[in-house]
Parts: sequence; C-alpha cells; structure tokens
Amino acid sequence: MEISLSDRTWVEKNVIKNGDMLLYGNLPDEMESLPSEHLWQEFRRIGELYLGAGQSRTRLIHALVDELIETLTARDRRYGYPPPYCHKGCGNCCHEVVYCTSEEAGGIREYCSAEGIFLDYEKLRRQLEYVECDSSLDHTGVTTWNDQHIDGQSCIFLHKTEKTCTIWPVRPLVCRVHLAEETSVHCTPHNGVENPQARGINYIELSFILTVVFTIHRDSIKKTMGRLLLLESKI
Ligand code: SF4
Ligand code: SF4
Repeated sequence: MEISLSDRTWVEKNVIKNGDMLLYGNLPDEMESLPSEHLWQEFRRIGELYLGAGQSRTRLIHALVDELIETLTARDRRYGYPPPYCHKGCGNCCHEVVYCTSEEAGGIREYCSAEGIFLDYEKLRRQLEYVECDSSLDHTGVTTWNDQHIDGQSCIFLHKTEKTCTIWPVRPLVCRVHLAEETSVHCTPHNGVENPQARGINYIELSFILTVVFTIHRDSIKKTMGRLLLLESKI
C-alpha cells in the first residue's frame, strides 16, 4: 500500500491512469455537493480493496455489492420505505443492452461451460446490429434496440418461461445494482433513452463502486457483454 501518497494522487495513479474518471449512478449529480476529500478517500478505499484482491476481485466486489444492497434496503425498511419492487421472475430490465467487465465476461463463460449453459452466439450477433459502435467497437450509447421483436431484445441468459437469470451467481455488476420502485412497467428499454417515468433506486455507496470498477475496466466496459462474449468465443 502506497501510504505516503495523497488519496487523490493514489487514485489518479492506480484507477484513472491516463484516462478520465467514468462517473456512474448518482455521482454525476452529487459530485459537487460532496466534500472532495471524502470522494477521493472513498475512491481509494474501493480501489485498494478491488486491486488488492487479485484473481478473486470480481467475486469479492459482487459479494460486497450484494451485502450492501441487503444492508441498505433493510435500513430503508426500518425508516418506513418500501423495498425494491424487483423479485424473481421479473425480467423487463433483462431486455436492455448489458455492460460488464472483461473479467465478468470470462467468469460467465467459465460458469456456462461448467453448468452446460448454451451460449446463443447467433442471437448476440443479431443484437449487436441494433447497437451503434465506434471504430474501437465501443458502444456509442445510440441504439435502435426497440426495432427488434421483444424476444430479440431479451438477454440470452433470461430463462424463456420462468423469466429468471440462468447465470445468477455470476451475473454482472450492472444487473446486481439495477433496482426499481413500485412497478416493473417502466423497466423496458427505450432505445437507449431513459424512461422519464422510471423510478430507480440509486444508492451513493453503489455509485462509488461502479465508478471505480468501471474506470479501471474502461477498455472493456463499453464493448457490452454481448460483444465481450463474442470476442472471446473465437467462433
Ligand atoms: S429493475 Fe424492474 S424489471 Fe428488473 S427486476 Fe427490478 S422491477 Fe423487475
Ligand atoms: S445476465 Fe441475468 S440478470 Fe443480467 S440481463 Fe441477463 S438474464 Fe438479466
């Protein structure tokens, strides 16, 4: 651990490197109101935890996020807030473009191979036709996703009839933190444009984690889960 470095310098050296900090969740809106020393301290705390965990880092961060969500939703219930609407078999959100790190994609491939789960490469290729990418194969954020039939929009890991996730233990971070209030009707995709009626639950604690991990993995995160699985498939 490089104790002598200031938190900001440590984060610039180990997380941001030569790029930009990619801000996620509610951090873009709340950056200004948070004390800067707290921001850098928290970015460093998560960065040290993640980078120090070696090959277990994806598993560690998934477990941390799951525990945090348990703790935060339990706290909210004590204050009288309703729990997230999300529940087993509720899969509208599994019809969107999914992002993940290259290490998460690797873990998904291993899990599918061990569990005998079919990877539908043809569908992944078809879906990429509705995702605009730049010359580095990074998703630009523009889609014509809704031009596909609803079945075409579904994640290849969404069980057709039960509407459950067939790779639940290794699902990416983005799938873990996606929480909605009251209803699932606004959770369907809108060609990359957020539905103004959607009421998502955003916890700042999760925004810090996504920001650090996605900044470290900026080279893979914008490729989308589908493209990462295809790139590694060599098929
Ligand atoms: S985000 Fe929406 S569709 Fe997804 S599980 Fe939660 S309520 Fe259901
Ligand atoms: S990986 Fe699982 S949770 Fe994530 S979009 Fe696919 S089916 Fe849904």
